[in-house]
Amino acid sequence: MIPLAEAQAAALALAGPRPVVEASLDDAMGAVLAAPVFVEDPLPPFDNTGMDGFALRAKDTAGASATQPARLRILGTMAAGASPDMLHVAEGTAVRIMTGAPIPAGADAVAIVEEVSVEEDFLVLTRPVEPGANVRRRGSDADVGERILGPGTVVTPTVRGLLASLGVRKVFTYRRPRVAVLSTGDELTSEHPLPPGKIYDSNRPALLGLVAEAGAVPIDLGTVGDDPDALRTVLSEGAAAADLLLTSGGVSVGDFDYTKQVIDELGTMRWLQVAIKPAKPLALGTIGSTPVLGLPGNPVSSIVSFELFARPLIRKMLGTARWHRPVLRAALTEPIYRRADGKLHLVRARAEVRDGALIVAPYRLQGSHVLSGLAGANVLALVPDGEGLPAGASVDVVLIGELDGPDGASLLGHDAS
Ligand code: AMP
Ligand code: MG
Repeated sequence: MIPLAEAQAAALALAGPRPVVEASLDDAMGAVLAAPVFVEDPLPPFDNTGMDGFALRAKDTAGASATQPARLRILGTMAAGASPDMLHVAEGTAVRIMTGAPIPAGADAVAIVEEVSVEEDFLVLTRPVEPGANVRRRGSDADVGERILGPGTVVTPTVRGLLASLGVRKVFTYRRPRVAVLSTGDELTSEHPLPPGKIYDSNRPALLGLVAEAGAVPIDLGTVGDDPDALRTVLSEGAAAADLLLTSGGVSVGDFDYTKQVIDELGTMRWLQVAIKPAKPLALGTIGSTPVLGLPGNPVSSIVSFELFARPLIRKMLGTARWHRPVLRAALTEPIYRRADGKLHLVRARAEVRDGALIVAPYRLQGSHVLSGLAGANVLALVPDGEGLPAGASVDVVLIGELDGPDGASLLGHDAS
């Protein structure tokens, strides 16, 4: 058996970032920027008001008080989208203005609507307005020439919004890898009801989803039986179409485990016995220039194997420097029993934040065929070789899902009023 870190290094050595492409913002979602983005147009593009109110000349309000209010004649109204030169604020005048509207020529401040009163055509102010008050200056968010995003940035929905706000329509990204997923096994069927001895293919739906979630483009290669000829055909076609091939099943030591053999025939193959439980067997290799990971067939094993070997490789191919999931430290709510077997155990568990600290509860059913435990898990607890850990012990956990915490409704307790 080889240590997990060594197996991960072997998987990561299979490929690097994909070539750089110029992509539309639509196509760039989830991809990683390969070059910095510089601001070409100032943001905001023009001076505008951050509040509903009245645009005016600050000096016309100097000295205003309850006893000596400033009175400014209202020239008209400017809404968002109006042209900045629609109205001109001269001495003693003001313009009613809506959030996002340009500051009219001549004005240098905005008095907010809640702090003034209107008497017929006149604005009445009982206190002075500071020059620049409530004005969002042209270029104050981002100025021309500024490096707003660096290479390595993932194009998240917010980043996409930022790029759109800057008028950027195309960016240089690493091309997202196409990852092909194949299930193997004579027992797999999609027939309802299940014929005797058959099972549904759960690995492919899970892995295709994980591929997409990791940021890659999934390709569904379907299922093939335990038939070397059929495997050869699908694997060579898959290798030609994809940047990475993922198979599940057929990599242990059973009589009909052909995956390893066929990868070896078509290219190169290395079979690893990783010192972990679940997901001990792993085949890795290449067909042509396409890397292949042969994941184990047991549903939990195939997903854990994806998490440990395929996901970091996909992240590397995407061009990000963050290949691995974060590891946190949590306190066990219950003991974990295990036997010494020379392996690191990856225990499916649920972590949550309670009173600001992270606690973790292991699932009872830990069989590598029991998907329900993994489906509910948001962490894999890393339980080192030995006799297990007592309740209260702290354990490293790999965060593979969303962290639980106090319900979002408790945010209401943070209301200002
Ligand atoms: P194998 O690695 O091919 O020996 O498969 C190990 C176990 O995983 C067997 O019980 C298989 O039936 C099961 N298995 C393999 N592939 C799948 C799959 N795609 N979906 C569900 N179970 C599978
Ligand atoms: Mg099989």
